[in-house]
Amino acid sequence: MPLSKSINSIYIDFDAFFANVEKQIEPSIRAMPVGVVALDSAHTALITRCYVAKRAGISRGMRVSEARKLCPDIVIRVARPDVYVGIHNKIIAEVNKHVPVKRVWSIDEMECELIGREREKAVEIARAVQNGLRRNIGEFITPSIGLAPNQFLGKVAAELEKPNGFVLLHAEDLPGRLLKLSLSDLPGISSGMEKRLNAAGVLSVQDFWNISSKHARAIWGSVEGERMWAQLHGHKIERPTTTRRMFGHSRVLSGEFKDPKRAIDCLRLLTVKAANRLRRENYTAAAISVSLRAQNKTRWSGDLQFAPCRDDRSFLKYMHELYERGIAEMRPQNLAGVYVMLHQIALPAERNRDLFETHDTRKWNTLTDVMDGFNRKEKKAIIHLGPRPEIPGGYAGAKIAFGRVPDAEDFF
Ligand SMILES: [Mg+2]
Repeated sequence: MPLSKSINSIYIDFDAFFANVEKQIEPSIRAMPVGVVALDSAHTALITRCYVAKRAGISRGMRVSEARKLCPDIVIRVARPDVYVGIHNKIIAEVNKHVPVKRVWSIDEMECELIGREREKAVEIARAVQNGLRRNIGEFITPSIGLAPNQFLGKVAAELEKPNGFVLLHAEDLPGRLLKLSLSDLPGISSGMEKRLNAAGVLSVQDFWNISSKHARAIWGSVEGERMWAQLHGHKIERPTTTRRMFGHSRVLSGEFKDPKRAIDCLRLLTVKAANRLRRENYTAAAISVSLRAQNKTRWSGDLQFAPCRDDRSFLKYMHELYERGIAEMRPQNLAGVYVMLHQIALPAERNRDLFETHDTRKWNTLTDVMDGFNRKEKKAIIHLGPRPEIPGGYAGAKIAFGRVPDAEDFF
């Protein structure tokens, strides 16, 4: 494993993202302590809070009632996922102007890999990203940026001087600033793993630094320990892509699409989008869930399991089955939201393909591949199964699961 002297990774982690988005949008609360909750209730906990609130002793996960006691002037806002996702998409587009985003880790964290000559200009590129974000996204939506030989150290670097951090970690300066961190500050070390490390006599980052990579592997009981050890020491390693567990899309309905007769069209579109992403990553799914939310706040969800498949027709068929069941049980006047998720994801190689592939599924898989290939070439969904209406707001109103990469093909 080569030690990488160069800066290969720029990691961008936004500070108190939801709270700062609220501040950006609403100038009158910019100087105030702001907390964001998922539900409008005094018993709910803060999912995030701004740094003004942090300095007043407010922590994430604190109940609203407790936060108000500690900080009576705290401004509480209910999270608006659609707004945050819209800004997330603009952020990705802005970062991409300067350096390609390699991976989106969450709604407010992303990683860019530097290649070739970019490595010599790492600081310049990262400053251009920082300035571009300030100018085009907003000066209150601040990122903390870490530059390092690998993604792991980049993330650590981004954490070191929050908020508004800009930290460069060179391999030759290691372990240096890492020594003041505790083990659980390192990404990927959960409290359970910390206990295991402690039991093995590894009590600090210094201890972890000093053990051998083989020892790290033994403590983890997997190659993951060796990988983390190597990254901590500044090696650049390619991670195998992790297996995804689900592909889902949800949508808040408006106008005529609240009518259960029209909501199904929306759900069809979401199903096809999820199936398209699944196929792009070469997966199959063996289960589907559909969730419905009525305007009167009642909810229904159901799921179905089936032989692994990957074609639109099968997923649409199962989705329809669930939808009809849901509508029959719920009898909603109007729907407020729909959600579809494909799960029990596997690579074709992970199962015995022949076991599931009948003449009929083979035929539909082939047809699906032909359609995908054509649509990809045309960059538009020209061929598809059944109705595909124009949905008001287009993709912009759709929520994404925080952790998945939205890419160009999701937009048709
Ligand atoms: Mg963040």
